[in-house]
Amino acid sequence: MSLLELPPWKLDFLQSLDWRLFETLCAKVFSEAGYQATELNQGPDGEINLQLKIGNDSAKKIAVRCRRQKDSITAEQVKEFHRFAEDVGANNFIFVSSGTFEDKCLSEFKRAHQLRLIDGKQFIEGMQDLGRDKANDLMKFVLGQAEWSIPTCPDCRVKMMRRVDREKKTAHWGCDTPHCNCTMPVE
Ligand SMILES: [Zn+2]
Repeated sequence: MSLLELPPWKLDFLQSLDWRLFETLCAKVFSEAGYQATELNQGPDGEINLQLKIGNDSAKKIAVRCRRQKDSITAEQVKEFHRFAEDVGANNFIFVSSGTFEDKCLSEFKRAHQLRLIDGKQFIEGMQDLGRDKANDLMKFVLGQAEWSIPTCPDCRVKMMRRVDREKKTAHWGCDTPHCNCTMPVE
């Protein structure tokens, strides 16, 4: 794929990514920004998705939650993450959303110095700040993943299948692994 064919980073594209790929993308962006990022692979509802370190600074324990979520992130979600991460010893907190945070979050957490909220728009700006080549590399990485928009099963980590309920005329994502009953809504 030539660089000219690469689409620019846009919010609706970010929103269309598999939750798992969004997590990996977050890890890559933080790595490019100079952190050592470790993916914890805890699933779409996992409290902490990434751990970050800067160089040999072991005093800073940074916990990151990444949410590919179409609705706004609520203040309750941010509080829950903060509480959980603090309990397991983190002292710096970053919540990344592919979309937005409800207004209440911004007023409520403005003064919490160790907590950073990054919405989808800022995340894209962050990638662009890395420079055009890096932003293009990240896009190439995402588009290079097979089925980048199809969600991964939270339990077995295989790609889900779109299923249609003909009677209700609704669709959802289901898992094909025997005995796995995981489903996810089609957004
Ligand atoms: Zn499954």
